Amino acid sequence: MSLSPKQRAVALMNLEKARAEARIAKQKRLVDCICENCGKQFTRRLSEVKHGMGKYCSLPCLYAGRKRETATKFGSKKKLNH
Ligand SMILES: [Zn+2]
Repeated sequence: MSLSPKQRAVALMNLEKARAEARIAKQKRLVDCICENCGKQFTRRLSEVKHGMGKYCSLPCLYAGRKRETATKFGSKKKLNH
């Protein structure tokens, strides 16, 4: 099988396109997460999880969870001096 230069160019373009699509799909890949505050299951993009957004399902849960984290931190160890 021999390809004409034009066919070759098209094949190369399709390959590049497929690669780009695969890269985008990877970035958009959804990850199943469970909210640390309310236990609800939700999905986040992998890129978001990498930025620490995979812990809580929503902003209220994020705030509640952070508050609780701080409370337990200060509750177990009375003083934290840094
Ligand atoms: Zn939640």
